[in-house]
Amino acid sequence: MRPETLNPLFAETRDLDGVGPKLMKPLEKLGLTRVRDLAYHLPERFVTRRAIANLDEGGEGEQVIVALTPTEHRAARNPGRGPYRVLAQDDAGNICALTYFGRASYTAKKQLPVGEKRWVAGRLDRYGDMLQIVHPDHIEKESAAHMGRMVEPVYALSEGLTQPRIASLTAQALDRLPELAEWIESSQFEREGWPPWRDAMILAHKDTNERARDRLAYDELLANSLALLLVKAEGRRRKGQALAGDGRLRAKLDLPFEMTSAQKRSISEIEGDLQQEAPMLRLLQGDVGAGKTVVALAAMLIANEAGKQAALLAPTEILARQHFETLRKMAAPTGVEVAILTGRAKGKERESILMGLLDGSIDILVGTHSIFQDTVNYRDLGIVVIDEQHRFGVQQRLALAGKGKRAPHTLAMTATPIPRSLTLAQYGEMDVSRLDELPPGRQAIDTRVIAQERIEDMVAGVARHISAGQQAYWVCPMVRDSEIADIAAAEARYAALKERFGDDVVMVHGQLKPEVKDANMERFANGDAKLLVATTVIEVGVDVPSATLMVIEQAERFGLAQLHQLRGRVGRGSEKSVCVLLRGNALSETGRKRLALMRETQDGFRIAEEDLELRGGGELLGTRQSGDAAFNVANLEQVQKLLPAAHADARLLMERDGGLTSKRGEAARQLLYLFERDWGVQLLRGG
Ligand code: ADP
Ligand code: MG
Repeated sequence: MRPETLNPLFAETRDLDGVGPKLMKPLEKLGLTRVRDLAYHLPERFVTRRAIANLDEGGEGEQVIVALTPTEHRAARNPGRGPYRVLAQDDAGNICALTYFGRASYTAKKQLPVGEKRWVAGRLDRYGDMLQIVHPDHIEKESAAHMGRMVEPVYALSEGLTQPRIASLTAQALDRLPELAEWIESSQFEREGWPPWRDAMILAHKDTNERARDRLAYDELLANSLALLLVKAEGRRRKGQALAGDGRLRAKLDLPFEMTSAQKRSISEIEGDLQQEAPMLRLLQGDVGAGKTVVALAAMLIANEAGKQAALLAPTEILARQHFETLRKMAAPTGVEVAILTGRAKGKERESILMGLLDGSIDILVGTHSIFQDTVNYRDLGIVVIDEQHRFGVQQRLALAGKGKRAPHTLAMTATPIPRSLTLAQYGEMDVSRLDELPPGRQAIDTRVIAQERIEDMVAGVARHISAGQQAYWVCPMVRDSEIADIAAAEARYAALKERFGDDVVMVHGQLKPEVKDANMERFANGDAKLLVATTVIEVGVDVPSATLMVIEQAERFGLAQLHQLRGRVGRGSEKSVCVLLRGNALSETGRKRLALMRETQDGFRIAEEDLELRGGGELLGTRQSGDAAFNVANLEQVQKLLPAAHADARLLMERDGGLTSKRGEAARQLLYLFERDWGVQLLRGG
């Protein structure tokens, strides 16, 4: 049970003042459904604004406050496609466009009546030969004095939210924060000069405050380390069962290929683990296409050979079906019974699967999380394989799978290459097998780095590519920090490419309506459209084998891991694929090295390791939006700086007070709830 002190933090956002269903949508998109989430929605940065008398005084890219009078509203010719612009004039007669994308145009219509002076705050940019402010942060009728502090937090937004809105919501959340007992070890706390939790929260929203931010990051790392140690302690308490396979089923496999040595090595590592009584806790890492499935099958067959059952957990229904089909085919010669159970199975079908699991006639079960429901009982489950689970999901499932009985062995699989030094943070103390070798015969992707100035050559190259009957991606950068300006740039690129390629080109980005996005995606996938312009290929499901060219604009602005993933969209068919990285002129030494690395290797592990070396701090691990981020508060720099201490702190606490019953232990329990690692607490007896 969650301690009552924390209740105000877990109150719902929808219960705050001024929050209706309409506002909940964008809030949900950002995952801000509870007071706690809002409080932890820390500013991405702070801006210092300058009030200027007229536009001439403002520098490009500067955050300004200026009085403007709207003169004209210009809707996009094609609603929902182009931006909505309001032309406005300063006192000296200079013109500026106030530019809105998507549904934000409603705001413009309401707040910017023609002929009425308004105080506008935002970032001054240039669009062609015109000044513009994209999505102004504030529009007020009164003078600049009313526009709030000059130092102002900038929060991540989603469509339908504005800075003032989110600021007022976080302020409400901060008002509700309780005082919490300190969970950080006192000497550490004093040495660092950190503020108490509640103060740190408030400070972190106010201004750049490294101590406050570090403290909050440390909390998250401590919570994580503690939860992982609790899982580990639980694992030690529960006995597993040693599984010795005699190889008879594996010998019957009739694979159309020779296993790579990385696959063989991984299988023997797994086999070694399974022979131990202690439950296996192993992570299998390998890029997409590295051949993890057959390793999983071998592991499950070992369990079958030992007379036990195996289960494979997939994150989605679709992936479960894919795995089921593949495994059933591959395992056919062995005679083992493979079944699938998802939330969709109902009535008789479900009954018969449950029977088969109970009487042991099903050897391998593939499914979604429903395979661990209370109503699903196995005769004798020997191994669980978890495919592409989010990291903490893994730990959680491990903790709960087969609770009470003998613990099954566990193999988790992931396609995200992670530097060795970060595996501990993300996967706890799991053993790791790596498929660091792709099966032979894969086409290497020819990666080139070209100066952005040669973009016309590039367009000509795309034209040749398309007339040869192939398809291509054109990726524009999209950085959260400058999301709206990036969309503007991507729109402009699309417009230019459209002049040249007409209906052959389609575009997808996050600000398009889902229907439009899906329709465009579909046109590209079925070959109707030849060129797809995209801001990061968010649509991870895309698999278009005849797309064999990828152009990435301003490639230096992408993370290497992201470039690696993007590049993985080509090279899927039998044709040779090319990836062109367009680079800007102002390339730093690091930037140059990073792009050179991309040209040099396709090894995801090497890229991940060197990316970590080359990249400065400040970046998050993984992408927060995809729910894939290991941490929401701590950034990479903080992970490296603070994790060792947090881990040591957690260990010490566990040694002294493994049941978390001391005063500090109680505080640590609150911490676990706060960061939703409460599955850690649940493992404690009586927790
Ligand atoms: P992933 O690691 O992304 O799950 P898969 O297991 O789906 O990769 O394997 C990708 C493809 O490679 C499959 O078609 C699989 O049959 C094939 N494959 C796996 N191992 C080998 C190998 N050693 N040699 C050739 N092809 C292989
Ligand atoms: Mg796979």
